[in-house]
Amino acid sequence: MPIEKHKVVSLEYTLTGPKGKVIDSSNGRGPLTYLHGVGGLIPGLERELEGKNPGDTFNVTIAPEDAYGQRDPNMVQQVPRSNFPQKVIQVGQQFRAQTPNGQLRILTIVGFQDDKVTVDANHALAGLALTFDVKVVDVRDATEEEITHGHVHGPGGHHH
Ligand code: ZN
Repeated sequence: MPIEKHKVVSLEYTLTGPKGKVIDSSNGRGPLTYLHGVGGLIPGLERELEGKNPGDTFNVTIAPEDAYGQRDPNMVQQVPRSNFPQKVIQVGQQFRAQTPNGQLRILTIVGFQDDKVTVDANHALAGLALTFDVKVVDVRDATEEEITHGHVHGPGGHHH
């Protein structure tokens, strides 16, 4: 059965960055399972998966605008040190913060001074061309409940 909107897809993948460094992989973790066509994966990868069948393999390099977007310099900001309750501040620390419109973002500390901390709200993979090696493992119809919820239930998915 080919991949189209509202199919539940299982795939094995290896993600490498621009310099060939492995960033993420399903190896040792089992396949990634997602609901196709509802924005669960980056747009460039869903587009490439459309119409593929179980057993199909492919390799694709996706430009930043079809992946996690370009880096936005305005998303690097200085905030008062007093906003951080923890005693130790280190470059590379990540934490969740809520934007004024209620979105959760992962912020990364990229620098600090005595009274100020510089945080970067860009996605860690923003600005990067991403290469995926993919094998489609399984394709099935989504249940009505999965379509209503917008995500997969059961193995590899949500448990309520
Ligand atoms: Zn659900």
